[in-house]
Amino acid sequence: MFRKNYDIAVCGAGVAGVAAALACARRGMKTALIEKTTQPGGLATGGLVLVYLPLCDGLGRQMISGISEELLLAANRYGPRNPNFEWRTHGRYTARFSPSSFVLALDELLEESGVEVWLDTLITGAETEHGRLVSISVSNKSGPGNISANVFVDATGDADVVHLAGHPCRFSENSMTFWVIEHNENQRSSNDLDHSCQVAVHADPLENVYTCDPLSGKMVTDFILEGRRRYRRLLKTEYAAGIASRTSHYPISLQTVPPIRRGRSVVGRFTLDSTMAGRSFDDSVGVFGDWRKKGRLWQIPYRALLPAELAGVLVAGRCISAIGDAWEATRVIPVSAMTGEAAGTAAALAAAENRLPHELDYPRLERELRERNGFRLAFPQSAI
Ligand SMILES: Cc1cc2nc3c(=O)[nH]c(=O)nc-3n(C[C@H](O)[C@H](O)[C@H](O)COP(=O)(O)OP(=O)(O)OC[C@H]3O[C@@H](n4cnc5c(N)ncnc54)[C@H](O)[C@@H]3O)c2cc1C
Repeated sequence: MFRKNYDIAVCGAGVAGVAAALACARRGMKTALIEKTTQPGGLATGGLVLVYLPLCDGLGRQMISGISEELLLAANRYGPRNPNFEWRTHGRYTARFSPSSFVLALDELLEESGVEVWLDTLITGAETEHGRLVSISVSNKSGPGNISANVFVDATGDADVVHLAGHPCRFSENSMTFWVIEHNENQRSSNDLDHSCQVAVHADPLENVYTCDPLSGKMVTDFILEGRRRYRRLLKTEYAAGIASRTSHYPISLQTVPPIRRGRSVVGRFTLDSTMAGRSFDDSVGVFGDWRKKGRLWQIPYRALLPAELAGVLVAGRCISAIGDAWEATRVIPVSAMTGEAAGTAAALAAAENRLPHELDYPRLERELRERNGFRLAFPQSAI
């Protein structure tokens, strides 16, 4: 068995994990980023979710900045699109991007910041001592391994680490949509990467037909296979009806990350719920504009990143402690990256002060988020 030790181990390299790892490494922490697939980005890349939802409130004001904005801008470094730079007057501050281009940019950012990345490495267990997470078990080509750290960030999307440590989690219902990068000569998609080529991203309207409550290995397999089965059916129907042929409509790239929006989330020290849009918190770690409604703002309290009864770990991304409509608002790419950066910043401060994340002095974290990360932590005056 191989053994490694870090200041901070970030588990899962989706946008939340990447943001957390960058925040830690840029503060001089020896940081590991552990990912079971072969590329960073999670759903945003392997899930082919190529729409970076807004950083603004829809009323011309930027709410999210920091690493989340850096990732939005980097997403097209090797790709054909641009962010919507007209967002102050038209539309919102969003970007569409090529998932593979985003992978190249994320690799580059991680490399530049000195994060030690472990790809193709599955987290299989979590070990605790006196209620504190002390190490995780992993498995890769070397065989089984053990990674210990002063502080962990669970950014696995489905709170795998917290779940493996035996801490309570919540589940949610889920609906299925099938995203595929395809060649389709008959149908243009609003998500086209480049209008000069015929590669389109196709979101098939398969909403509200499947549930994933609770999350299990078999359910995830069934969910993935059902999506591909439905896509095959769609192609067969088109071919049989003469609407399309094997040369005019076929898949180019399929998802390599399960397309689950809301699987498992942590039961935290505080739970953000559907009634809390517009509510201020004394321990805010960020403000964001709801992607569904212009002008609707949310704050995220630090306690929603802390599991209720497990010390030594923060959660980030789509598995923070949020339910219902709050989960729906917080799970998207820009907010996941924002909670990732907040969790990484808190992890780095805690490790530097030899404290546990829940013992961190909030004013110290607040200062760091505001002054160094450039975060907005309170609502703009005109929105109150
Ligand atoms: C169908 C669909 C459409 C969506 N549409 C949009 C959209 O248009 N715009 C938008 O902004 N958001 C959208 N979202 C939401 C958004 O993509 C995700 O919620 C967001 O990217 C989550 O980021 P994350 O880093 O928290 O988690 P994830 O992207 O899930 O990343 C988690 C990472 O952890 C890794 N991991 C998990 N378990 C382990 C383990 N045991 N060991 C090692 N690694 C592990 C995974 O491989 C993955 O890389 C959509 C989601 C879905 C499913």
